[in-house]
Parts: sequence; structure tokens; C-alpha cells
Amino acid sequence: MSQFSKQLLLWYAQHGRRGLPWQNEKDPYKVWISEIMLQQTQVSTVKDRYLQFVSTFPNVEDLAKAKADEVMGLWAGLGYYTRARNLHACAKVIHEQYQGKFPEDVVSLSQLPGIGRSTAAAISAFCFQKKNSILDANVKRLIGRIHAVEEDFKKKAINEYLWTMAQELLPENARDMPAYTQALMDYGATVCTPRNPKCSTCVFKKECRAYQQDKVEQIPKRIKKTASKEVRSVMLCILVNNQVLFNLRPPSGIWGGLWSFPESSWDDHLEIKSLQLQTLEEFHDLPLSILRKALPKATLLAPRKHVFTHRTLYFQILILKVKHVFDVDKTRFKWVNLSEVQKLGLPTPVNQFIQDYCSVNS
Ligand code: SF4
Repeated sequence: MSQFSKQLLLWYAQHGRRGLPWQNEKDPYKVWISEIMLQQTQVSTVKDRYLQFVSTFPNVEDLAKAKADEVMGLWAGLGYYTRARNLHACAKVIHEQYQGKFPEDVVSLSQLPGIGRSTAAAISAFCFQKKNSILDANVKRLIGRIHAVEEDFKKKAINEYLWTMAQELLPENARDMPAYTQALMDYGATVCTPRNPKCSTCVFKKECRAYQQDKVEQIPKRIKKTASKEVRSVMLCILVNNQVLFNLRPPSGIWGGLWSFPESSWDDHLEIKSLQLQTLEEFHDLPLSILRKALPKATLLAPRKHVFTHRTLYFQILILKVKHVFDVDKTRFKWVNLSEVQKLGLPTPVNQFIQDYCSVNS
């Protein structure tokens, strides 16, 4: 066993995290769900959502047979919705092409929708004791610091170098792979953290070149973020008594595949100082004459803000109360009773608005 893996396993036995609901899990389905949820999402957020997800869809067959709306509804609020769409697509492939059994090798796993090299390695290590290293952001940081890699980790050659280093550090005995893989994750998350790593108590401080060369703060190299672009939009909340109209967003892009309010395109110049008839022109998929009739009594709410990774959206919701439900293209629109709205996958700010609206108007 490499000295590194030995030290890491010893540390894990004493200090590793305990009580994570997916820990010591051997079922590839559950490991996969937890790994996908944990991408770009905090452990504290994932804990409950993971339990909710696997109790609603306890196995790959249940997920494969679920309706897209149910899956998106369960994912709502976690963001990065491509993950949910890929989960659903991947479950279908495993159910239909692999008779419901996950493949064991990383090559087959990483060809499945939404499963990258690191997630494939995690599934194969945790469930099948295969000797493939994971390399998520935590592990990249740990290995990059130990080897004092000062260049941008996103560069292809640097990324490959980190994979090679990670693979060299694996324990000899495949039996140790589940504990070792969890230990790597825990070490990056709790000791070799992005800020204020606990170097003084680190078991690798003698071998860590970044620590020895006083370069810990510089690794990983920080890449200047591009300024967040501001965009504006108007959303229509069209109500008939307790029914509200939703529009299915295109499958790709922001909030892809979620139900949301019909909205104008995201424009960086749009300024809605006063409500004008032209505001509705963009909603040509809807019966404009009906909407216009409702305009005099419409309410335009104050702008709300939602921050994405590379964009800030300022949106205003226009509440239009129409007299009767009107016909819509059922592939893209649907009327939903307010009491049923929580079952849909809604973007967080739309969901927040609905909750506020229901609490004021109940
Ligand atoms: S010494 Fe510090 S930077 Fe190096 S591996 Fe340990 S915690 Fe990370």
C-alpha cells in the first residue's frame, strides 16, 4: 500500500465524517444518486433531498418509469437541472439496455448520460471495489497542493497529470477502495479545504510541496471570473380563480425542462418603467386579446432578483386575472391548480413567488 493511502486510511478511521446517509452504501443506484446530487451542491442541502429522492424512487426501474415532471419536481431548488434530466435518461438506459443492473467498469459507466469519469470511478470503487481514482474538485485541490501544481487545473495537460497522480496514490488492495475513496472526499472537504486548510494538523504536511514551499494559498490557481451579465424579463402569472398557467421551458439552457411562467426573452436593455400594451406583444403564443382585456386590472410587482453563476436576472411578475381558462398548446402549456403546484418542478424564484402568493391569498 502506498504511504499516502496508508496514512489517509488511518486518518479516516479516526477522523472521517460519520452519519452521511449515503456512507457505506453498496447499491450503485444510491451511490450514483448521491454522487450526482453532491455535484455543485452542499452536503447539508443534499442530505434530506437524497433521502427524499431515494424513498420516492427506491431503484433504477422506478426512476426509469417515472414521469419527467415527477423527477424535475423532486429536483426543484437543487439547480443545475441538466443533472436531473440526465439522471432520468440514464435510468432509462440502465433499465432498458442493462436489465436494470449498473455496469461495473468505469469505461461503460462513463458512457452513460451524465456520468463523468470521476462519478464512474466513485461508483466502481464504492460498489465493485475497482481500483480507479476519483478526481472531483476536492481531490484535485489535495493532489494539486501535494505536488505543488501552480498552473490552472482546467488545462488539459494539467488535468491529465492530476489524474495520473491520483491513480498512482491508490491503495494496493482493492478491498480498501470504498474506504479510501470516501477518505479522499472527506479529507478534501474537511482538512485540505479551499480556504484556511488545516495544514498544522495535516498528516501529509511533510510530503506536501505546497506547504513546504509556502504556496498553499496560491493553489489551486484562481482564475478571474468574468463579470456577471445582467438580464431583465417579464413573467406572466395568469390566473383564473385558483388555476395558474405554466409554460414548459425548452429542455436545454437555464431551468431547462422545468415548468415556469410564460416570460419575455431575457434582454439586457428591457426597462419596464410603466406597464404598456407592447409588453405583451412577445407572448404571441397566448391569446393576446384575452390578456389585453385583463390588463387594466393587472398588477405589476416590483422587480425581483435571481443570481445564477454567470448571470443576474431581474424579473417582474405581471399578475393577470382572466375570466375563463383558455385553450393552450398542451405540449407546452398547462393550467395547474395552485394546490397542485408544488408537485411541478419550478425554478426557485417562481416557486418562492407562488408560496408568497398562496400565503397572502389563502
Ligand atoms: S499540508 Fe495543507 S495544503 Fe498540504 S495537503 Fe495538508 S492541508 Fe492540504
